[in-house]
Amino acid sequence: MGDDGVKNEAMEILGLFQLLPRLVVFDLDYTLWPFYCECRSKREMPKLYPQAKGVLYALKDRGVDVAIASRSPTPDIANAFLDKLGIKSMFVTQEIYSSWTHKTEHFERIHRKTRVPYNEMLFFDDEDRNIDAVSKMGVTSILVGNGVNLGALRQGLSNFSQNRSSSEKGKQKKSKKSSPSKTEDQ
Ligand SMILES: [Mg+2]
Repeated sequence: MGDDGVKNEAMEILGLFQLLPRLVVFDLDYTLWPFYCECRSKREMPKLYPQAKGVLYALKDRGVDVAIASRSPTPDIANAFLDKLGIKSMFVTQEIYSSWTHKTEHFERIHRKTRVPYNEMLFFDDEDRNIDAVSKMGVTSILVGNGVNLGALRQGLSNFSQNRSSSEKGKQKKSKKSSPSKTEDQ
């Protein structure tokens, strides 16, 4: 399936959900592309996972912002590759630097820059320690086994809407408890 075919399917998947994230954040190595860019040369022509581009374009078309959170120690190579792939300008922010935290620092910066609340973000990464740390911040986080693809997108959107609707229910319960009942003695 070509990029357009993937994009069309991704648009259909996006159409299945009423609640969409405002921002989708992607790791780079083994999430958008199938290698560690620190082991590559800037002169090479990189390739994304086969469905990654279609998913990115569909999100942009639906008005969902996209960003990058990568702990790559070689941001110069990562940037050169994003440029070569023609996708660099798609991202509202790119956080690419090594860090001792499991990307919590990356997400704090993304939140500061975009003002998008953590619970309105969706995150894809291939390392479970990042997924664990970032999901504790309130971000719906999806572990990918074979890069970003249509299946991961569907699962991400489904988990996102489940998380959102359960937090809405939690809020409603709280406000019911705290607001005085008005109708009882009418
Ligand atoms: Mg990775």
